Parts: sequence; structure tokens; C-alpha cells
Amino acid sequence: KDWGLGPAGGFTAAALLDPHRTAIIDELGSLTYDEVHRRSNALARSLADLGVSAGDGVAVMCRNHRGFVDASIATAKLGADILYLNTAFAGPQLADVIERERPRVVVHDEEFSELLAGADVAERVLAWTDGPTDAPTLESLIEASRDDDVPPAGRNGRIVILTSGTTGTPKGAPRSEAGVEAAVSLLSRMPLHYGWRTHIAAPLFHTWGFAHLALAMLLGSTMVLRRTFDPEAFLDVAEAERCDSIVVIPVMLQRVMGLPEETLARYDLSRVRVVASSGSALPGDLALEWMDRFGDNLYNMYGSTEVAYASIATPEDLRAAPSAAGKPPYATTVKILDPDGRPLPLGETGRIFVGNGLLFEGYTGGGGKEVVDGLMSTGDVGHFDQDGRLHVVGRDDEMIVSGGENVFPKEVEDALMRHAAVVEVAAVGVDDREFGKRLRAYVVVRGPVSEDELKAHVKDNLARFKVPREIVFIDELPRNATGKVLKRELASD
Ligand code: ATP
Repeated sequence: KDWGLGPAGGFTAAALLDPHRTAIIDELGSLTYDEVHRRSNALARSLADLGVSAGDGVAVMCRNHRGFVDASIATAKLGADILYLNTAFAGPQLADVIERERPRVVVHDEEFSELLAGADVAERVLAWTDGPTDAPTLESLIEASRDDDVPPAGRNGRIVILTSGTTGTPKGAPRSEAGVEAAVSLLSRMPLHYGWRTHIAAPLFHTWGFAHLALAMLLGSTMVLRRTFDPEAFLDVAEAERCDSIVVIPVMLQRVMGLPEETLARYDLSRVRVVASSGSALPGDLALEWMDRFGDNLYNMYGSTEVAYASIATPEDLRAAPSAAGKPPYATTVKILDPDGRPLPLGETGRIFVGNGLLFEGYTGGGGKEVVDGLMSTGDVGHFDQDGRLHVVGRDDEMIVSGGENVFPKEVEDALMRHAAVVEVAAVGVDDREFGKRLRAYVVVRGPVSEDELKAHVKDNLARFKVPREIVFIDELPRNATGKVLKRELASD
């Protein structure tokens, strides 16, 4: 049987191989693999005393710190299902998800206590406290348990990751196996090595952060974790902790590159050999800007909660085609299909379908993604170029039909991003009596630039009907915790 890459399998392997290696460095200090092993066994015991057994659900609502890791491994050791809650959830969203998933216990940071009190949770365990409390804390549960010998669960618990909720209420995407093949696939195009020090800045509750938690456990890495993201603190951590790799979502890179030149010039990240970005599109200009400053260490992974991974662009790919999503890794098939499910010729844009060893099992609330010949729809459209690199043009459901012409907002965003004054952009379709939809772009700029100049810039690069009818200048784009722009909010104005 595959040991699995779930937090129990991969972790236990690393803990047995090298117990004294440092597993986690967070704001509280460091823990070895052996310490995390004991802590998670103790927590598993305590969770079992609370009535959690194989097949039950444990929800985790924690920021990136040791509590997240303890809870993940403990739950997996019991063969229980883990549900990761988004730390940016608003009350009603959280209540909807809790109502649907019905976890038996929620392990959470204290800061979410009030939010969770509004949701109907049967029992709760506090994961973290910054001050005195009468409630049981995760630390007290770990300390209280003397027995750290947890019997094998006999089953793999499911790992349920929630989608970002870009298109509605976040859906639960479960998997019960995360095999070695998946790790080999990712590593085939993203060279992470055994024993590296990795700063996982991307949220651990999202597919991308979680994938790196699982990989780190398998590779005996030292995970450097911080509860919140700040661009300067991020550079401090990467440099001071001598990280070999860092895991980000694109908006983090954007915020780092937005720091003043004097600040950037202070940092030397030459030790960082892999900067792994995913979760949303990586703008080509940003990729080049990063590599010109910090070296050719950037990898852009394209995937989704449902298909996990589809393609990876290496630094060489990004140098040749900066906005490309790269090539499918080992044992992964990506096909471009027409609306009837037939393969399209090379170069033509169509729906992106993926086959790999990590497709999800169908939403916890029912339903799934379309599957054609074993390949799953990503919900995105794109094409392959002559060199075999995938280009993601946009989401299928974001396509705007304006005056009978099809426009994908991402093409327009890419064109605007290529203007030197534009820092961030989001294009949306707003209702229009004459055209059905009209294109509006929200831009964050540095330095003075006029609406007409930006429109002329798009017109020089794209067909006339792709020029936004309106350009709105704003200070900051609204984003969710995984860095996705909240387009529904922008389009509803
Ligand atoms: P929901 O399914 O709830 O609407 P979501 O699809 O936004 O949420 P995720 O699974 O987190 O939730 O996002 C995956 C999507 O993000 C992909 O389908 C794609 O549109 C986009 N994406 C992720 N990585 C990349 C990338 N490297 N390049 C381009 N697009 C990307």
C-alpha cells in the first residue's frame, strides 16, 4: 500500500528517517520532527477522547503555524477527515460550510472564536491563545495527554480543501489518497530537494499551501511559517532563515515588488533556488521583474482545487514566454477540447482538461466537474503554443459577450499589465443595455497616466472590441485570502 502523502504517511516517514531534523520554525520557535510526532500523537489521543474516530470530520481554522500542522497530522493519524476552513471567511459563508460539512470538532485560532460562535458547531477545541483562557487549548490538550502511542487508523482520512468561492459558496473538494506519484509529478518540473528549508507563505488551508505542507513532510524539509504576510517581513524571513525555497501566491510577489527600491536593494535572496507560485495567474511582467531582481528561480504552477496540478512553467519557460503556465509534469495529461469534447488542433483555444493521479472525488455537497475520457475540466480555457507550453486565457465562465464578440478579461488584463504605469488590474463585464455586457477595467497605477492613454495602449495590442469602455482608477483591488480578485464585487457596482 502506498504510504500516501497525507499528513500522516509522508510525515511519519520523515519523522522515522530523521527525528532530530527541524520540522517547523514559527513565531514560537522551532520543533523537531520527533517533537511534532509526539505532539500530534498526543493531540490525536485527546481528539479521540472527544469522540473523534475514523470517518469523523475535524475542521481546522488556523493561520500558518504549528497548530495547523499538529491538527492536520493528528486528524490524519486517527483516519478522520480534515476540512480546512478559509481564515478569511465571513460569518454567513462559514455557517454555510459548517452546516454542509458537519465537522465533529473545530480546531481553530482564538481570533476566530466569535465567528465560530455564530456557526452551530457541536464541540470545539481552541488551537491557539494569546492570553489566558478557561477553555481547553490545543497546547493544554497536547500536554494533558501522556499516551502518545496511537494505533493505526486502518483507513486514510479524507482531505477536504475548499475552493476559493470565486463563483459562489466555496465547495468542498475531497481526496482520500495523495500518492507518491503526485509528488513525483510536481518534483519532475519543480526541483525541491530533501532537507530544504522552505518558507510556505501561501495559506496552508488552500490547495497550493497544503501541497507544499505534504511535500515538505515527505522531503524532511524545515517549514518556516508566519501567521500573516507582510512583504518586508517576508523578505526578512526568507533571508534570515536561509530559505532554499519559498511558496507564494502571485499577489505576494506583487506586494514585494511594490516595495521601494532602497528596501529591495537590502536583500540578498541568492540562496533561494525555488520560488513556487500558484493559486491565480502570474502576470508575465511580474515574473520578469522578479527574476531580474532575484534571479531565475521562479516557477508558475497552474492548477485548481479540483485537479490539483496541470502544468508548471520553469524559469526557462518564463524567460521564453513570461505569461505561460508551462508544461504538464510527469504522468499528467492536458488536452484542449472543443465544446463537444473533441480535441482541438495545436494552437487553438478551447476548454482545458486534465488527467493526473490527484483528481478530486466530487464535491462534498454533490456534483462534480465534467469528465471526458478520464480527463477533468478545469473550467478554464487556453491553448498550447508551438513549444508545448500551455497558455491559460481565462475562466470559461468569465467570458464576456460584448456586442456579439467574445472577450476573456484576462487577455485585456495582460495587455494593461504591460503598460509601465499599471501595477494591478481587474477587468469585468458590467450589464449594458446596448451591448449586453460592456468591459470595465479597474486599475491600480504608479505615476500619472490617463484613461485615454491606457485605452490607446490596449488598442495597440488587441482587437478594438477588447478595449475597455471604462477604466476606473482605484487604490487597491478587493481580494480574498488566496489573493483572488473579488470580481463579483467589482462587477456588481
Ligand atoms: P470556485 O471553484 O469556488 O469558483 P476557484 O475556482 O477560484 O473557486 P481555486 O480552485 O482556488 O478556486 O482556483 C483555481 C483557478 O485559479 C483555476 O481554475 C484558474 O482559473 C486559476 N489559476 C490558478 N493558478 C493559475 C495559474 N498559474 N495561471 C492561470 N490561472 C491560474
